[in-house]
Amino acid sequence: MSINEQKNCIFCKAPKKNGFNVLTAFICLDCEEKIASLSFDDPQYCNYVREIKRFWEVLREEEKVL
Ligand SMILES: [Zn+2]
Repeated sequence: MSINEQKNCIFCKAPKKNGFNVLTAFICLDCEEKIASLSFDDPQYCNYVREIKRFWEVLREEEKVL
C-alpha cells in the first residue's frame, strides 16, 4: 500500500489521502472533524449516523456471503 494511495471516503464519497480506516471503510479527516464537531441534535448528525448504519449493513451482508 503506498502512502499516496487515495481512498473514497464513505461519507463524502471523495477520494482522499488523509483519513483513517474503520475495518474496510475509509473516513477522511474532513468528515471525521465534521462528525466530531456536530452535536447530537444537529440534523446533519442524523445523516452521518444513517451512513454509518448503512455501512454496517453492507458489512453484515458481506459476512453472510463469507
Ligand atoms: Zn469524507
